[in-house]
Amino acid sequence: AIEVRGLVKTYGDNEVLKGIDLTVTAGEVVCIIGPSGSGKSTLLRSVNVLEDPTSGTILIEGIDITDEDTDIDRVRQRIGMVFQSFNLFPHMSVLGNLTLAQRRVKKRSKADAEKLAREMLDRVGLSEKADAYPSHLSGGQQQRVAIARALCMNPDMMLFDEPTSALDPELVGEVLQVMRQLADEGMTMLVVTHEMGFAREVGSRLIFMADGNIVEQGDPREVLSNPQEQRTKDFLSRVL
Ligand code: ATP
Ligand code: MG
Repeated sequence: AIEVRGLVKTYGDNEVLKGIDLTVTAGEVVCIIGPSGSGKSTLLRSVNVLEDPTSGTILIEGIDITDEDTDIDRVRQRIGMVFQSFNLFPHMSVLGNLTLAQRRVKKRSKADAEKLAREMLDRVGLSEKADAYPSHLSGGQQQRVAIARALCMNPDMMLFDEPTSALDPELVGEVLQVMRQLADEGMTMLVVTHEMGFAREVGSRLIFMADGNIVEQGDPREVLSNPQEQRTKDFLSRVL
């Protein structure tokens, strides 16, 4: 589980997160929507310890990652993160991309790492691309490789920050399909997305963020069809 309590993040005098409380329990798929600059990425980056909170606490599986005695690297290994940009290593094959961190961080043998890499590639529907280089893959394939790479670290939970926003429209579906499958398998997921269809059909909860606050949250169908707050209504009328 992810437990965020009173999370405040400021950059200079810009208060970007204004006291976020959020719990994501095992198996939940929580989708976050909201206008540009509302703090969605900052929230995800805080959960993955890429940002230091200004105040508040974040517990990952009960471990306080804001405690300076916590071994952050070990906690971070439990969290897979997928960004808008795929960030694959261009000079390495798909298999190389999928085995690097397994060997360096998890200290797995080459054979073990490659075995798991091939399993995960199969899971994202790319078994035949093990030896391909990223530049020879479509954006959708590259993003599926990035998801497979995260899965190779056996994460307990996955964070997605607009995983389909950089893709051509016809490639969005194949990535959402892989995410849907992960959700069906019970992966705990926190997903920032503009894909309202995905949020509605796959999300167990939908959060609307604006201006550093959680403005509204609930069952995705409820929030999308019957928003309670004016700011949610305004946002949805612009994007739906
Ligand atoms: P988008 O939908 O455009 O991705 P977002 O909701 O993810 O937006 P964030 O990226 O979290 O928003 O940014 C929230 C605010 O924090 C913005 O005003 C942004 O300019 C500011 N911000 C983010 N990162 C930094 C940084 N490293 N230094 C200073 N300000 C930052
Ligand atoms: Mg963002």
